[in-house]
Amino acid sequence: MRFFWAVCVIGCVLVWPAATGAWGMDVHRLITARAIDGLPAEIKPFFAASRAFISEHSVDPDLWRSVDLRGDRGEEPPNHFLDMDFEEGSTPPFLNIPREYDAYVKKYGAGPAARYGRLPWRAEDVYTLLTNAFRDIGKPNVPYAADNARYFVAVLAHYVEDAHVPFHGALNYDGQLTNQRGIHSRFETELVLRNHASFTLAPVKVTVITGFRDYIFQTLVDSQALVDGVLAADRKATDGREFYDAAYFDAFLKGAGPIAERRLSEAASGVASAVYSAWVDAGRPVLPADGVRPPARIRR
Ligand SMILES: [Zn+2]
Repeated sequence: MRFFWAVCVIGCVLVWPAATGAWGMDVHRLITARAIDGLPAEIKPFFAASRAFISEHSVDPDLWRSVDLRGDRGEEPPNHFLDMDFEEGSTPPFLNIPREYDAYVKKYGAGPAARYGRLPWRAEDVYTLLTNAFRDIGKPNVPYAADNARYFVAVLAHYVEDAHVPFHGALNYDGQLTNQRGIHSRFETELVLRNHASFTLAPVKVTVITGFRDYIFQTLVDSQALVDGVLAADRKATDGREFYDAAYFDAFLKGAGPIAERRLSEAASGVASAVYSAWVDAGRPVLPADGVRPPARIRR
């Protein structure tokens, strides 16, 4: 259930929908919309009319899990995380994990590799699809390149957002190794539920990412490094308490609130930067304004 983190936290921060059954999905939608709004003027018009479409479809990878869709690398769930610290004795930046997928699978075996996750490689796959689609826009034999590019942005946004979730980068993803079970939802759901109104997100900042897979790895290294802080805040907040009540969450907020705010902000900036960087990698092609299609040539 770790994929709910970004969904819950981000959605709660930006909007508080009345229907609690749907707010989980709203998070990916909202953080993606925030990223689209923060795109540089050079490419923003290409996405303007598709903002709702893109944010809606940024939840698709989670739906693929639900219906058990499989891709080239295997089943969908491992695409959403990589437990950076899975190997005993390893330390940041976890260079024990090969950055090449084939070497990773070879080193640990297909089963463990799937168990510990493959988010960086999956994210890179989608980044490459997006870059290629940008490159194909305007070519007469690739009429759907523009539509595809917008869809790949939605999917890429999902994986970039997931990488920013602390518990998507750690073996102890639900406190199960430290007798803190349920920390996953206490942090990503309840903490935010109770405090979203007071959260402040930093403005979206767009930078050119050089080496996208390395960027996702670094994002996961950063996520993993935040887990101890959340766990410590939880331990402190539970000390002397019997229930996860309002007093617990008030105490938990002091340590964990800033971490949530930081990662939500960085997720939005990360998505916008990823999209911009794919466009740069594609050679900065001229993008038609959203909804504008050049007339097709009549073939005789
Ligand atoms: Zn996910």
